[in-house]
Amino acid sequence: MKFIETRGNDGRKSESVQFSEAILDPLASYGGLYVPKNLPDFGIDFLAKHKESSYQELAKSVLEAFDIDIKESLIDAALERYSSFDDPNNPVPVTQVEDDLFICELYHGPTRAFKDMALQPFGVILSSLAQERGEQYLIMAATSGDTGPATLETFKNRENIKVTCLYPAGGTSDVQRLQMVTEDAPNLKVIGIEGNFDDAQEALKSLLASKEFKDVLQRNETKLSAANSVNFGRIIFQTIYHIHSYLELYREGAIELGDPIYLIVPSGNFGNALGAYYVKVAGVPIEKILIASNANNILTEFITTGKYDLRQKKLIQTNSPAMDILKSSNVERVLYDKFGAQRTKELMDQLNSENYYELTADELKEIQKDFAAIFSSDEEVEETIKEYLERGYIMDPHTATCIKAYRKIREKMLPTVAYSTAEWTKFSPTIAKSVGLEANSDKEALDQIASRFGLKIPEKIASLYEKEIKHLKIVQKSDIMSEMIYFIEA
Ligand SMILES: *Cc1c(COP(=O)(O)O)cnc(C)c1O
Repeated sequence: MKFIETRGNDGRKSESVQFSEAILDPLASYGGLYVPKNLPDFGIDFLAKHKESSYQELAKSVLEAFDIDIKESLIDAALERYSSFDDPNNPVPVTQVEDDLFICELYHGPTRAFKDMALQPFGVILSSLAQERGEQYLIMAATSGDTGPATLETFKNRENIKVTCLYPAGGTSDVQRLQMVTEDAPNLKVIGIEGNFDDAQEALKSLLASKEFKDVLQRNETKLSAANSVNFGRIIFQTIYHIHSYLELYREGAIELGDPIYLIVPSGNFGNALGAYYVKVAGVPIEKILIASNANNILTEFITTGKYDLRQKKLIQTNSPAMDILKSSNVERVLYDKFGAQRTKELMDQLNSENYYELTADELKEIQKDFAAIFSSDEEVEETIKEYLERGYIMDPHTATCIKAYRKIREKMLPTVAYSTAEWTKFSPTIAKSVGLEANSDKEALDQIASRFGLKIPEKIASLYEKEIKHLKIVQKSDIMSEMIYFIEA
């Protein structure tokens, strides 16, 4: 399968590329993104064939259908990573919490958040491709919490890849910070910066624009790639579990093959929701994709009014920080799929120059055929956590935003899957607060919740507090370049 560009081709890049090219060098012409030229068919025949498939079998078949230029042995090695999840035979459990509500838990991987679903296999593929080509790659991540740990975990000790990870000192949870600063491998560098997530991202941007930095990369024969969801190598692995959820509902007797369901996706950069959209377009019977967000309600505004308006918006810190995003990169891929490259470029150019664009009424109707959206406040999230925890199901704050969508924006009473994107252990202070426990640290919150509700803290989290801290550096923005150069040249 070929990959083409959301904003059209500028004549410098190939008009279409193979999957391997699109993931090694993910930036397309005019700042656009790569998208598959056509989608496979995941309709009834495909679903019927996989009624009894394991997650890994389904995954393999999905990747085959995308017809990517990755050899079978490498695909097998990548999918083998799901065997390290809590239950190797069922890495993505789906749990019923209401008559017609099922929660698909995407957090049973090594860093306890849904980023592992894609980054675990993606890391194997990217590193092997780099090795085959004899090329060195640098991945620079700026993280507000979950992307950093998952990126470090997948690339640690992998050949031909170096990773730098910038995090805002004081801007992540203790667990998230410890997951990063205790990672021990020579190809990883973790740096705290004095400032917030925006400062970290800005520092990366100015680095990317700097001639001095580019010269250093060139001198060291190092290329840049990316591991965030602008990379289609992440998105492809984020289609699989949407098909799996549908099949799980069938296996649990909640639907017959062909019956429509709702999916609810707690969204930030829209990569998870985009995977759901592709699967819907490819024929899985999904009535609509319901987007759940927090007080940074730009996606809700866009989907309900057609306006993407950043002019009056400031980023708000919420208790679901992985969704604290205003520029949601993967909306662009939906625009491309619906309206084509010329219109997408027009809208994205306008967003860059005016911080604003607006769809026509017809275009908005098109978006609303597939999506509806609603957002929750921090207080609503806490109430939801409390309500479900008292009934015996513990969910993290991101997952909790789904419940309002379930209650308020379904037009039909169809079976519904909500995605759980993080384990409670990553956001224990919010859980503690929701149920009236007073804890002074993540550690206290973890222990109190575990003992009060009879829960187990997974070894991966409990052991963090005993591990040696390997990355102590916290620097000013102005010192980041020299830190990076030192690491690249080492
Ligand atoms: C990354 C993340 C999200 C948002 O996913 P997107 O694909 O960026 O929309 C939601 N919840 C958690 C816990 C995450 O880590």
